[in-house]
Amino acid sequence: MNLAQAISAGLATAGTRPLLGLLDASGRGRPLILTGEQIAAQATGWQQRFVEAGLEPGDRVLLAPRRSPELAAVHLGALAAGLTVVPLNPSLTENETSRLVARCRPALTLLGNELSPSVAGAKGDGEDLALIIFTSGTTGQPKGVKLGNANLLYDLEALMRLWQIGPDDRVLHMLPAHHFHGLVLALYGPLMSAAEICILPRFEPRAVLDAIAEQGITVTMGVPTMYRRLLEAADPDDDLSGLRLALCGSAPLPGDLWQAFDDRFGVGLVERYGLTECGIISSNLPDAPVAGSVGRALPGTTITIRHEDGYHRAGTPGAARSGEVCVAGPSVMAGYLDDTDTTAAMVHDGYMHSGDLGRFDEKGNLYIDGRLKDLIIVGGTNVVPGEVEAALSGVDGVAELAAVGRADDDLGEVVVAWVVAGPGTDPGHLEQRLRDRATRELASYKRPRAYHLTGELPRNVMGKLDRRALAEQS
Ligand code: AMP
Repeated sequence: MNLAQAISAGLATAGTRPLLGLLDASGRGRPLILTGEQIAAQATGWQQRFVEAGLEPGDRVLLAPRRSPELAAVHLGALAAGLTVVPLNPSLTENETSRLVARCRPALTLLGNELSPSVAGAKGDGEDLALIIFTSGTTGQPKGVKLGNANLLYDLEALMRLWQIGPDDRVLHMLPAHHFHGLVLALYGPLMSAAEICILPRFEPRAVLDAIAEQGITVTMGVPTMYRRLLEAADPDDDLSGLRLALCGSAPLPGDLWQAFDDRFGVGLVERYGLTECGIISSNLPDAPVAGSVGRALPGTTITIRHEDGYHRAGTPGAARSGEVCVAGPSVMAGYLDDTDTTAAMVHDGYMHSGDLGRFDEKGNLYIDGRLKDLIIVGGTNVVPGEVEAALSGVDGVAELAAVGRADDDLGEVVVAWVVAGPGTDPGHLEQRLRDRATRELASYKRPRAYHLTGELPRNVMGKLDRRALAEQS
């Protein structure tokens, strides 16, 4: 069975039952409802359109439609046609989009609702890929993560079983649908399980609280910032007792937030952990979440903690000390698109190296302590400092520029820039030029919130930028 067949089976199970609903912006009304049969029929229509456009199995199709009920059918139609889907953030700038199109060379793009053929379509070299997800890795430009049908099927089957998501559930969809979280977990997973999905046009805390109470939502999937916003927006009479499973991940979940959410709503957030490169590899159990932990390894997945002397399995003394989290199992990616060097740097010795620091307790619960890499995670979305620096360093009057993360109560982290100005540069004008360039070149979540002028950037003896020192000053 491949992913498309598994999703089709979910649609068939739902049959004439509603499977996907579009909520209005207030979260109270549900103006549009599609049954399993209706989505299946729409998907067949999309599949035919792809075939009529001349696409063959293994061809790539870039999909960047806005979140809508049509989303499920477009994805399923493409997967059923054997295509490799490249989901893209519809809010990227034109320049960002065309750079990624050049990298992945899709046979067809669907931007908005317009299907258009691309110039030079690439083939998948016989790999059975379902998705190529562009993610912000450790350095430089976003990388294309190649995920096979088998990777996704294993991960989703394990997770849906663990979380017991099934036809009795109603899942609130409030995430962007181009990441692993919003696309694979929040869309493909519930469809496979015949759980009804309610799509909220955009995340707005008041609408989420109302939707949970009034639409009979049983499952939410979100990032820590979203749950913090729900807490802040809640009125005394808001009641989330219908919610049986509030899943949380994509960024560190502070202990105080877990506790406050539990105190206020009687709902213990169920934290899970993973990366685009290996899907979700650990999760808490729905009815027994352990505060502060990202749960245990999924059945069939091996997580080890790497120190200089090797890889340590849960239950051994080495795994109790913080080290790099490494993973082996069926969900580990097929590699990065056109980048064997970075793939080999990440996957070697039989393990994928996450770049995150973690440790196990004696019961096999994993704790994430921080990260080895320099990613800035803004409200659950990763920003690579190198990409921000590349976009802004060429601005007239900039001698040097570095982007680092600054802690933020609301978003977890935001981007700030440290700038060394060239001689004779007017600082006020320089900041305006930087802001203008950022607006043109970078999606809003990647734009620095502040520009600090400094005489020089801290560097170590090797001449490498000391990001930690900068982050501490930020
Ligand atoms: P992405 O590939 O965009 O999903 O980003 C993966 C990164 O997000 C991981 O390497 C972690 O640094 C971070 N991350 C994801 N889930 C968690 C979590 N539950 N706790 C802490 N960090 C997380």
